[in-house]
Amino acid sequence: MENYGIIGWPLGHTMSPTLHNWGFGRHGIDADYTAWPVAPEALSRFMDRVRAQPISGLSVTIPHKRTVIPFLDRLTRRAETVGAVNTLYWDGDALCGENTDVLGLVAPLKALDRPFSSAIVLGAGGAARAALAGFRELGIPRIAVANRTRAKATSLADEFGAECMDWDARMEAEWGLVCNTTPLGMSGDLAGETPWDGRRFHPDAVAYDIVYNPLETRFLREADAAGCATVSGLEMFLHQGLAQFRLWTGHDLDEDGARNLLLDALKA
Ligand code: NAP
Repeated sequence: MENYGIIGWPLGHTMSPTLHNWGFGRHGIDADYTAWPVAPEALSRFMDRVRAQPISGLSVTIPHKRTVIPFLDRLTRRAETVGAVNTLYWDGDALCGENTDVLGLVAPLKALDRPFSSAIVLGAGGAARAALAGFRELGIPRIAVANRTRAKATSLADEFGAECMDWDARMEAEWGLVCNTTPLGMSGDLAGETPWDGRRFHPDAVAYDIVYNPLETRFLREADAAGCATVSGLEMFLHQGLAQFRLWTGHDLDEDGARNLLLDALKA
C-alpha cells in the first residue's frame, strides 16, 4: 500500500484525508492518506522518513510551507514564485515541491470567465502570497495588497510587483476583485467579523473569501446582498485538493462528487 498524508503543527481538523481517501477508493488505488502532526523541531526527522519509506506524496500546511523547501530536490516554477509549497511529489527519484494553493485559488476565477482589471488582496500572510501569485498568473493588470500590519504588506507588494494600500484606505478605490485572505469571519471568535464594510461593495465586483468555515461568511453574505458575484473558500480548498490528487495519481477526481463530499464534511 502507498502512503500519503498531510503535515502541519498544530494540525487541527483537516478535510484532506476525507477527500483523498475517497479519491483512492473511487479510483481503486491501494493507498492511504493520514494526518501527521509534525512539530517544527521534528520536521528534519520526518523528511528523512519521507525519503526512506518512501512516502508517495505529502500535503504541507502551516508552519512548514516555507521551512520544508531546503529538504526538497526541486521546486516548480510556480512554487519558486510563491516561495512556499503545499504539495510534495516524486518525479522519478527527485522529491519536488509544488504550490497547488495557487491553482486552487485561480480555478474558480477562471470558471467565471470574466476579465478583471484590478484586484485587492486583504491580508499579507501565506494565503496572500498564493493570491498575489495567482492574480499575476491571471494577468490582472492592477493588483494591490492591504494588511493590518503595513510593513508586511509593503514587503509582499515589493516582492510581487503589486501596490501597497493602507489598511484604512483599502475601500477607497473601486476594485474588480476583492479577496479576503485574513481569518476574519472564520467560525469561532472571528465569526461575526469582516474585513470589508458591506456598504462599500461595488455591484460589479467579485468578492472572494478564502475562509471556508463557515461556508457563507459575513463578507460573502454582505457582498451578495450588494449584488456582487461571490466565490467561497471551499472552491479554493476543493481545487487545490483536485490538483494534488492529479499530481500524485494522474487521475482527475469527479469535481461535483468531491464538492458534495466536502460540503457534507463541513456540515458534519
Ligand atoms: P497567516 O499567514 O497567519 O496570515 C493571516 C493574515 O491575516 C495576516 O496578514 C494578518 O495580519 C491578518 N489578520 C489576522 N487577524 C486579523 C484581524 N483581526 N484583522 C485584520 N487582519 C488580520 O494565515 P494564512 O495562512 O494566510 O491563512 C489565512 C486564512 O486563510 C485562514 O483563515 C486559513 O484557514 C485560510 N486558508 C484557506 C485556504 C483554502 O483552501 N480555502 C488555504 C489556505 C488558507 P497581521 O500581519 O497584521 O498579523
